[in-house]
Amino acid sequence: MRQKKIHYIYNKEMECMDLEERKKLQGERLRKTVELEYEKVPAYRKRMDEAGVKPEDINSIDDIVKLPFMQKTDLRDNFPYGLFAADLKDMVRIQGSSGTTGKPIVSGYTENDVDVWTEMVARAITAAGGNENDIVQVAYGYGLFTGGLGAHQGATKVGAMVIPMSSGNTQRQIMMMKELGVTMLCCTPSYATYLAETIREMGIKPEELKIKSGCFGAEPWTEEMRQHLEELLDFDAMDIYGLTEIGGPGVAFECMEKNGMHINEDHVIAEIIDPITEEPLPDGTPGELVFTTLTKTGTPMIRYRTHDICTLTHGTCACGRTTVKMSRITGRTDDMLVIRGVNVFPSQIEAVLMGVEEASAHYMLVVDRVNSQDKLKVQVELKEDVDMTDTAKLDALAADIKKKIKAILLISASVELLPPKSIPRSEGKAKRIMDNRNTGF
Ligand code: ADP
Ligand code: ZN
Repeated sequence: MRQKKIHYIYNKEMECMDLEERKKLQGERLRKTVELEYEKVPAYRKRMDEAGVKPEDINSIDDIVKLPFMQKTDLRDNFPYGLFAADLKDMVRIQGSSGTTGKPIVSGYTENDVDVWTEMVARAITAAGGNENDIVQVAYGYGLFTGGLGAHQGATKVGAMVIPMSSGNTQRQIMMMKELGVTMLCCTPSYATYLAETIREMGIKPEELKIKSGCFGAEPWTEEMRQHLEELLDFDAMDIYGLTEIGGPGVAFECMEKNGMHINEDHVIAEIIDPITEEPLPDGTPGELVFTTLTKTGTPMIRYRTHDICTLTHGTCACGRTTVKMSRITGRTDDMLVIRGVNVFPSQIEAVLMGVEEASAHYMLVVDRVNSQDKLKVQVELKEDVDMTDTAKLDALAADIKKKIKAILLISASVELLPPKSIPRSEGKAKRIMDNRNTGF
């Protein structure tokens, strides 16, 4: 059942801190992080030396622009332990990225880092209405991927009872959800959709479940997808964001206002830059999100380029938090398709399809190169109740979708309508792109 809009806050002192006071705190923590990095991580010290900047030059948060960036390649080049700022004996955990874009990378956590991460997720769960009365089903994968353990630790911290299901075995997930009276669900939004659709297909009504909210992240999703999920399960579907390099899920999370994710600014500094010129961009302008950790001691990161595209908005939120908010991620630069010179993100196609009555939430973008020309095909899976034998109607529908896509993307795509259940379901991060252009060369 959807909750009343009440704003619960886990750590008022930090989340609602006076802006000037927070800036001061961030400046002090930044200096400490830079000192640690300079002393312990030769690869970054070298880069600072090359840029002619010393830890003593960092005296406030505004000095951050003097610091060189870090990239995913730094993690790969220094794999496995080269970026560790603490001794191995002080590390208590390794987590890894899910490897969505190439070779996996690992990050090391001290006990302090696990605590910081846990508190960040506890804040997210609290904002979604979670507390010690809740029963939280964690259907993110457990393992090197931060989703499962992150949600587990955060939910435990708020005193909830956790069901560590991990992902997969959908029928059993639903059985547990019903029989154990689960009140909160944590998983990827694509898996949540799959679960919710299966629940409805099984004839289970939302009122037979006790589920009130869910924290969904680890992949981009749209506002339209939220509406769809909330209608299916009559609950609050909340966005949560994070990445292994910066600590895992919980770096940012939505409050009940549901219009942007609060970034945990006592633990990280967020910047938006132009991905080409690397210049900082103002509030409201989309660009690449860059994070600097302020409290990590195991693998601190300085001006880490996430490749995620979004906007930032400063100002006090109606919930009382004063932390900066990030918009939904519209895409990652690695996921961006360049088709005949036009940038295309899967989220743009998703927004179109969610507005089409007959289309399900499952789709795939297939890109080929034919006679040196890029061809985009959008495969759309139709809903169960669509008559697949009425070819005239299907042709008209495909033409309509094609027109809508053209209006948004300004390029033509062919549209292929597929019968229900023909696009593979994901239990983790959904794969929505098949780019055949680079194979065979
Ligand atoms: P990867 O997917 O790169 O292998 P991670 O498992 O650490 O590595 O996932 C982090 C990435 O997942 C982020 O950089 C971002 O692209 C994506 N992500 C995480 N949460 C969200 C979210 N709420 N919305 C959109 N994208 C997200
Ligand atoms: Zn808020």
